[in-house]
Amino acid sequence: MKSTCPICGASGCVSVLTQRGYTYVRCQGCRTVYLNPMPAAEEILARYQDPTYFAGNGEGGYRDYAAMHKALAPHFRRRLRTLAERLPKRGRLLDFGCADGYFLELARDDGWKIAGVEVSESQAAEVARRMSVPVSTSLDTLPPVLFDAVTMWEVVEHLPQPVAELRRLRERLCPGGILMLSTPNAGHWQATRMPERWAGYRPPFHLVLFIAGSLRRALEDAGFADVDIRKTAPLPPLPRWVQRASAPLERSLADGSARPWPVALALWRAIRLFGWAWQKVAYPQDDIFATLEVIACRPA
Ligand SMILES: [Zn+2]
Repeated sequence: MKSTCPICGASGCVSVLTQRGYTYVRCQGCRTVYLNPMPAAEEILARYQDPTYFAGNGEGGYRDYAAMHKALAPHFRRRLRTLAERLPKRGRLLDFGCADGYFLELARDDGWKIAGVEVSESQAAEVARRMSVPVSTSLDTLPPVLFDAVTMWEVVEHLPQPVAELRRLRERLCPGGILMLSTPNAGHWQATRMPERWAGYRPPFHLVLFIAGSLRRALEDAGFADVDIRKTAPLPPLPRWVQRASAPLERSLADGSARPWPVALALWRAIRLFGWAWQKVAYPQDDIFATLEVIACRPA
């Protein structure tokens, strides 16, 4: 069955990419990209019960989530600093889609009282046991407390009905509580100009991919206020030969296997800086930011 846009409800859409038998379309109304037809909820849930999702599943899952900690750490620390500026007293934090609990560990070290939701039953049980904190497989089974902060890192794109889930999360926030999230930017030049190369197209895990405008609409429809969306993670286009030569470096930094790490990181930064200058000349219209980051709040 054909689906309508999960954000604006429009049925007009154009095909973007077909991969592994799934088709992404872009809404002609709000430019959200979504799988059409949308897989059934049971099929989606079953996919995450496969233990190879977080380690070893090259087919759309993670090769080794634990090895990615090194790549994730600076982002997680920066986001915790942002959160602390808004909520210096800390309080209770829920990480929705907590994977192996790495962000929860950093948040606890930063003074938060933590809880998690993780749809993968084996991951949820493992994190709950290792960290002695409540980790549920859904919001319904979470203890009925309100949180000062809810975080969701690269999660909203996995939800078939993002607005409904965001609304449920808003109801779990204290009045004035903060939501922070990140998600791939479907306005990025790769998503539009080179869809076969863009890492954001990952069926059947990534179901709904936002541009800044459609993400704002989803959050406001879910009842959030003061929605602040920032574009981060610059990934400019590169001349073909530079792209080809630097692809292994890019991959090793993304999965955490680059050695020695600081040298690899500095080299990649220099390449991106060159790409940014080249883009100004070759593709001045390109949106070079790969990620959207949001801070929003539940109205008091
Ligand atoms: Zn739409």
